[in-house]
Amino acid sequence: MQSAAWDQRIQRAEELARLFPFAAEILRFYSVVARFQKALYGYIHQAHQKSPPSRVFRDSLDLSLLLPRFSGFLNTVKEAAPPQLADCAARLSAEPEARWEELLSAFWLGAKDLPHAHAFCARAFLQPYAAFVAARLAAPLGQGETATCPVCDSEPVVGVLREEQLGARRSFICSLCAYEWSFPRAVCPGCGEHRNEALAVFTSDNFVYVRVEACDTCKCYIKTVDLTRNGLAVPVVDELAAVPLTLWAQEHGYIKLQPNLLAV
Ligand SMILES: [Zn+2]
Ligand SMILES: [Zn+2]
Repeated sequence: MQSAAWDQRIQRAEELARLFPFAAEILRFYSVVARFQKALYGYIHQAHQKSPPSRVFRDSLDLSLLLPRFSGFLNTVKEAAPPQLADCAARLSAEPEARWEELLSAFWLGAKDLPHAHAFCARAFLQPYAAFVAARLAAPLGQGETATCPVCDSEPVVGVLREEQLGARRSFICSLCAYEWSFPRAVCPGCGEHRNEALAVFTSDNFVYVRVEACDTCKCYIKTVDLTRNGLAVPVVDELAAVPLTLWAQEHGYIKLQPNLLAV
C-alpha cells in the first residue's frame, strides 16, 4: 500500500460522508483514523526503507519502532471515536507500556479472544505496519485460493469484483495487511459451501454495486464491492458506508466473517 492509497481512502470517506448521512459519523471517524494511519505509514517507511524485507510475516513486529506512537493513536481515538470506543482508548492509555506491548504482540500473533475495543485499537494501529511488511515480504506466498490471507492468515474484510475477460473475478482484501488475493466467486469463505441454494446475495437501492454474500450453512456473510459497476468505489471505505446492507444481514441472522475496522 502506497501513501496515495491512504489519501484515496480518506477522500472517499469524506465524499461518502456527505452523500450518506446515515453513515456520516462512522465515515468521519474512519477518515480521522486513516489520516493517523497514513502518517504512521510514512514514519514506518522512512525508518525501515533500508532494512531488509522480512521473511516471515508473524516474526516481523518491530515494537521498539511502534510503541512510542501508540499513545498518540489512543489519543486520536479518544477524541474522535464513538463514546464506548473512546472510553476504552482512555482506559488503555492510562495503562503501562508493558500492557500495550502485550496487547499488540497478542494481536499480531493472531489472538482471537481479545475484547472488541482492544482488538479495534490493535488492528487499526497495526494495519499500516502490516501493509508495509506485506508489500515487501521476501518469502514466496503460498499457492491456492485460501479463505484467509496468504500473507498473514487474517480473515478478509471485504470482497472485490474486478473485470475479467468473460465477466468478473472475485478477490478478497485482508483485514490486517490489505493484501488482495483471488477467491472463487461461488464459494463461502466461512465453510467452503458451494451449493447455489445455500448461498444468498443481497443488494440495496443505495448501493447497487455492493452485495452481501451470505451462506445459509454457516450463517456468515461478507460484503463484496463490484468495481465493474462503480469504478470510483474504494472497497474498504464503501463497505463501511453500506450500512443498510449490514442491517439487512443482521436482521436475517447472518454474522460477519470479519468485522471491519469499526466492528460493523
Ligand atoms: Zn493479510
Ligand atoms: Zn458458509
